[in-house]
Amino acid sequence: MSKKEDSGGKKCSHHTELYAEVPASCLPIVYSPEYNITFMGLEKLHPFDAGKWGKVIRFLKEEQFITDEIIVLAREASEADLLVVHTARYLNRLKNAILEGSREWSLVVATITEIPPLLFLPNFLVQRKVLRPLRTQTGGTIMAGKLAIDRGWAINVGGGFHHCSSDKGGGFCAYADITLAIKFLFERVEGVASATIIDLDAHQGNGHERDFLEDRRVYIMDVYNRHIYPGDGYAKRAIKRKVELDWGTEDSEYLQKVDLHSEGALNEARPDIIIYNAGTDILDGDPLGGLAISPQGIIKRDEIIFRAARRRGIPILMVTSGGYQKKTARIIADSILNLHRQGLIGEEALDVAGPSHVSLMMSKSVSSGATLAAI
Ligand SMILES: [Zn+2]
Repeated sequence: MSKKEDSGGKKCSHHTELYAEVPASCLPIVYSPEYNITFMGLEKLHPFDAGKWGKVIRFLKEEQFITDEIIVLAREASEADLLVVHTARYLNRLKNAILEGSREWSLVVATITEIPPLLFLPNFLVQRKVLRPLRTQTGGTIMAGKLAIDRGWAINVGGGFHHCSSDKGGGFCAYADITLAIKFLFERVEGVASATIIDLDAHQGNGHERDFLEDRRVYIMDVYNRHIYPGDGYAKRAIKRKVELDWGTEDSEYLQKVDLHSEGALNEARPDIIIYNAGTDILDGDPLGGLAISPQGIIKRDEIIFRAARRRGIPILMVTSGGYQKKTARIIADSILNLHRQGLIGEEALDVAGPSHVSLMMSKSVSSGATLAAI
């Protein structure tokens, strides 16, 4: 389906590697070993699991659901890719912070990831050790967007940087992968003209909210702990369905609200794609999320959303977003295995959804904005 960008007779958008053809034999599960963040072992000193993405993959392999050959290798988003959403000013600021040895970005990363040793690393190392993995995860989300349309579903094992908007980053979110995935689809894939973001990370997704504040093509549902970061009142105006939770919310109330409001959201507007931000920092005991959802509750939650998408035949892209306890990776893997057991993903689900007739359209990239945020 992909056409070269000059074959459509339309003004060319930039060349991207992220929409390259993927063999039909691959499952639309996107990952790269480059996702994982390591700081010469320093990360092991802290409960933050900077290698959760690799562990999810390891568990899925142990259960013989995947092999390296049948998943899709994520590529790093290029500068031109990032410019589809981010401003040059923003990208330069990130770069200059590194060149000038500014500790600003190290500070942000150290604070959000709660890895104080990061404060003592030179900035070029932070760039290499943190920003490159984040750019690769961002490329993965963009790739998974196209795969979701082609296959009916896709999972990026990383991504979900929902605090980052076109010209502002924060909280471990350097690149606005959700906004990027949606804008790539709008600009390049015929038949995709609307999207619904279902953001179930414990934090408010103020990044994509700021990006789509004036954009009626994007419907946003957000369920989050009302008392924690970021409390972005301006961004909240973009939320069509806002579900604010209190400290310590437990499974029964949570799942009932997720079910009710995801049904409501999808009945209110039928999108061409659902972007599901499946943060696991809702887990009981998470130091940042402040909610009390059980591992089984998370697995049930993901099932509710995939079922709602599948029942309607709407393509769904899942990203894993926040949640970095040591037990998080196991829960994400168990949830993916459950989706497979339920017949909601896997080869048998491939023909379910999506406008499989959609083809690439090479319209001019119109966006000049940029975004950055925290999970
Ligand atoms: Zn979060």
